[in-house]
Formats: sequence, structure tokens, C-alpha cells
Amino acid sequence: MSMKIAVRMDDITPDMNWENFDFFRNLFEKTGITPLLGIVPDNKDKDLVKGEYREDFYDIMKDLEKKGYTLAMHGCYHLYATKNGGLFPLNKLSEFAGLSYEKQKELLAHGQARLKENGIETDIFMAPAHSYDKNTLRALSELGFTRITDGFGKCPYIRRPYKGLCFYPISFRLGSSLKKKSGVTTMVIHANTVTEADKKNYENIFSACGGNMISYSEYLKIEPVTRGIFAAAAEYAAARLKRGLMSLKRHI
Ligand SMILES: [Zn+2]
Repeated sequence: MSMKIAVRMDDITPDMNWENFDFFRNLFEKTGITPLLGIVPDNKDKDLVKGEYREDFYDIMKDLEKKGYTLAMHGCYHLYATKNGGLFPLNKLSEFAGLSYEKQKELLAHGQARLKENGIETDIFMAPAHSYDKNTLRALSELGFTRITDGFGKCPYIRRPYKGLCFYPISFRLGSSLKKKSGVTTMVIHANTVTEADKKNYENIFSACGGNMISYSEYLKIEPVTRGIFAAAAEYAAARLKRGLMSLKRHI
């Protein structure tokens, strides 16, 4: 037994780097798994524009959904409005955390409506920069979202007082996650910025860990545990620590 790995891909837009996206699509096919795709419903972030604009984007997404892919809403405009890390402070910036409840609900409802217009309905939310606060969670609940792809841990969990929301943890450090004997985690892939050397690494990881990889749809079937406030505080501290380690790395 060892830890199972599900995969999520962030920053999915009509003008993403399609060559890299297809590279991963092939890798998933070879491995026999399907990932979670985080679609930006109304992208205004120029940093995410990395390829030609595909008019048939939503047809491609719906086709992948039919093949077993899971779809999530990744923010609204993907523009960072605040320097607030929120409840899971991996980064000190957010599209949502720190804004009023009303403003957040407006943004989230806009994103949801945009997806719906294009034939996509999902109850899974993926926060840009992993940052959300209490108001984000409240607004998501109000709009009918029930799952969040974030947090640390080895199985899906529900945290008080957000009983209607289930969190599906992501990997703190993939290397150390792989050594764990049980549980499930999420490998986070940003295909837009992947280099040729990174692709080789991913090929190696997928061929070495293929047997432990599961489709995201399988991950969603796992029964969540309920976490208390101490676990929530530990998660907050771990996210702060990771942010500290990443900024140290930048200086070395
Ligand atoms: Zn993103």
C-alpha cells in the first residue's frame, strides 16, 4: 500500500498552451486516469494567455467530461485583487480573500453563470493562488458549490463550521507524499509554464507512480472525515511554513 495520487490541472482557458495540454492529455491516456480541470470562466489574466484562442474550447471540455474528466471552476477573472492569503495562506494574494461577502458572491455568481451559458455545471471550486476566506466559503455554499480542491491532509475532509463543503487536499511536497503508506493526495499541474525538462520529469513520475494514480472522479468517491479547529490551525501553520520555504528558495 502506498499513497494514491489524483491529478488536477490549473489555469484551463481557451488560449492556454495547447501543446502542453495535449502532452498531459496523452500522459493521462497512457496511465489510464482522468484529472480535474480548473476552468477560468472569464479569464482576464494576460499571464495565462499562452496559445491560440480555440473557439471550440467548451466543446473540447464537454467532450473530455464525457471521457471521465472532472471539471471545476477556477476563480472568476483570475485577477488578483488583494494581498490576503485567507484561510490557506500559501500565497499572499487573492482574487477573493479580503473582499466583502457581497463582492465575492457577485464574482462567483458571474463565473458560475458564464460556465452555465457554455453548458458546464460544476459544484467544485478551485481558488486562484489557493486563497479563500470565510466569506468565499459562505458565498460558495450559497451558490451550491459543495467541494473545494485545496487544503493539506491525506483524505477528504469537512471542517466546522462549513459543513456543506468538502475539501480535497493537495500535495504539500509530492516527494514526501509518495513515501506515505496510505491516503490520497493531489498533484497540481500548471501546464502553461511546463518546460521540456519538466515534461521528462512528469513522464518519469507517471511511469514510476502510474499504479498509484487514480482518476479525480475516484477521489471524489472517498468518504470525508470531519476536522476540528486544531487540525484547521495545523493546516494554516503548514501553509504559512510552505510559503516561507518557497520564499527562502527564491533567495538561494
Ligand atoms: Zn490559477
